[in-house]
Amino acid sequence: MTFKALVLNLDYTPITVCSVQRAFLLVFMKKAEIIKANGTHSLRTVSANFPMPSVIRLGRYVTAPYKSVVLTRENVFKRDGFTCQYCGTQKDLTLDHLTPKARGGDTSWNNLVTACKKCNSFKGNFTPEEAGLQLSSKPYKPSYLTYLHNLSGVNYDEWKPFLISEVA
Ligand SMILES: [Zn+2]
Repeated sequence: MTFKALVLNLDYTPITVCSVQRAFLLVFMKKAEIIKANGTHSLRTVSANFPMPSVIRLGRYVTAPYKSVVLTRENVFKRDGFTCQYCGTQKDLTLDHLTPKARGGDTSWNNLVTACKKCNSFKGNFTPEEAGLQLSSKPYKPSYLTYLHNLSGVNYDEWKPFLISEVA
């Protein structure tokens, strides 16, 4: 597996995730410092062992561009844990508009949920209430930090203190 490092801004706000190699380079060039090292692995060269960065903090404040999670089919699936929000199956997934498009429902985080094709076609041109379907969770717009947290399935314990307040 390839290791990732969480990059914090000068004020400890998480801004991105990068490869360990890139994190190491930033530290090596004194542009960042290691806040947390990977406890079990280190970077080995012929002559020395270096701690493997897991969380680094930039040495100067970077004005991060406004980050928001792009609304895509894949990202809606991810938000919903690849699970039909009506029956809980993980097979044959598609996107369901809560308020159907034909009835003015928009394509937005709050109107889209993951549904299996069966539930989706059963629901047809109705809202969940009209079709007698119960949503397992209310749709929401994920924050960028939730997204970082879920990124490529990386979930290191040492990242948690920096992400947890936003994820909760
Ligand atoms: Zn279903």
